[in-house]
Amino acid sequence: MLEKVLIANRGEIALRILRACKELGIRTVAVHSSADRDLMHVRLADESVCIGPPSAADSYLNVPAIISATEVTDAVAIHPGYGFLSENADFAEQVEKSGFVFIGPRPKTIRLMGDKVSAINAMIEAGVPTVPGSDGPLDSNASRSMQIARRIGYPVIIKAAAGGGGRGMRVVHNEDALLKAIQLTQSEAKSAFGSDVVYLEKFLENPRHVEIQVLGDGKGNAIHLGDRDCSMQRRHQKVLEEAPAPGIPDEIRNEVAETCVRACEKMKYRGAGTLEFLYQDEQFYFIEMNTRVQVEHPVTEMITGVDIVKEQLRIAAGEGLSLKQSDVRIRGHALECRINAEDPATFMPSPGKINLYHAPGGNGIRVDSHIYSGYTVPPYYDSLIGKLISYGDDREHALRRMQNALDEVLLDGIRSNVPLHKDILKDPGFRKGGVNIHYLEKMLSAKGNPVS
Ligand code: ADP
Repeated sequence: MLEKVLIANRGEIALRILRACKELGIRTVAVHSSADRDLMHVRLADESVCIGPPSAADSYLNVPAIISATEVTDAVAIHPGYGFLSENADFAEQVEKSGFVFIGPRPKTIRLMGDKVSAINAMIEAGVPTVPGSDGPLDSNASRSMQIARRIGYPVIIKAAAGGGGRGMRVVHNEDALLKAIQLTQSEAKSAFGSDVVYLEKFLENPRHVEIQVLGDGKGNAIHLGDRDCSMQRRHQKVLEEAPAPGIPDEIRNEVAETCVRACEKMKYRGAGTLEFLYQDEQFYFIEMNTRVQVEHPVTEMITGVDIVKEQLRIAAGEGLSLKQSDVRIRGHALECRINAEDPATFMPSPGKINLYHAPGGNGIRVDSHIYSGYTVPPYYDSLIGKLISYGDDREHALRRMQNALDEVLLDGIRSNVPLHKDILKDPGFRKGGVNIHYLEKMLSAKGNPVS
């Protein structure tokens, strides 16, 4: 096993990684900004190193400082968590060149999946269903672009190949608007992502967001751990997730999951990954692959009993996967509410001191959070302060347990979106299951909440 792992992240995911390391007897190094000395995992790690001032650019994104911290502490591997440097191929490359293990895919895989055009082409080759589209970049040939859009049929969406975080996309409803939209998206993409490569695909009007969790050993063996539904989103940000995705016929979900496994085997995928799909009219359409552990990984852990972070560590140590596809059993249902330090009505961040915090508990409840009474949520980073996860024999059971858990939360000093989650859990459409990606925003605007 790896002897000592440096955790290049903060907050709940840093604590999650620390817990997995401790279970496996791995020693840990926490790195933190000067604003994050009081983080729970910094207290619990074997060693800690301050890597810079509060701004993420100078600390959690500061590659030389992170590599030096790895050197001075004699760590052998770096776990990047999610966000920050987790999908930065140059960073992964530098980690490996410096003689350390990057806990994630090979740099070239990260690069391939980071470019959406090359990712889509790799998936087409592996037989994964994709959205009908240009299957490559649009060029300066206007009549070619118009032909492609006409063949696909309007509405279409123009997307930046290097885009991310829900930015760099534009929907086009008719031919008159097409060329102008391509130009605008190209110039926006150039300034936001440094590349003006754009492509075009069919705009699906009422899809759900359903994703498949995979694990690969880097030697050509891969398995899937089923699917998750992340359709409850606001401004393309996930708010509540669940597994399995409700109401999808088993033969359809199994078939897409198997094509994902084949794609991962073909590219000798190493580590944990997620293939994201839009799902509409009983069809799956691949949109992108995330080459890291995701925020919502716990719902999959709850229904499979597999510890995804421990698998990442084992794979990085060269020990391979701890189980085969035939060992994976999906049982019950799990939900996750992302708890953010923000105003539940205006969504404005609400950092500050937590005077009092009491976590919910009981059978089937899991809390992944780094906060405690007396902890101050800094204003510099993402507002996620924890995740509340419920497990039940079926969806209804998981919903009831989640409602109880939300009622048990005591959080005083800062505002949180717990009231929003309580409203979602009461909503009849959500309770029925299988809502599409526009549902939450419609629900919010019906209540008079700002959506955008
Ligand atoms: P990002 O990397 O910025 O998250 P994605 O390609 O994952 O970009 O798309 C983000 C979101 O945009 C999707 O979850 C979906 O809501 C919407 N979207 C993307 N492509 C399409 C499409 N072809 N049709 C409809 N909605 C889409």
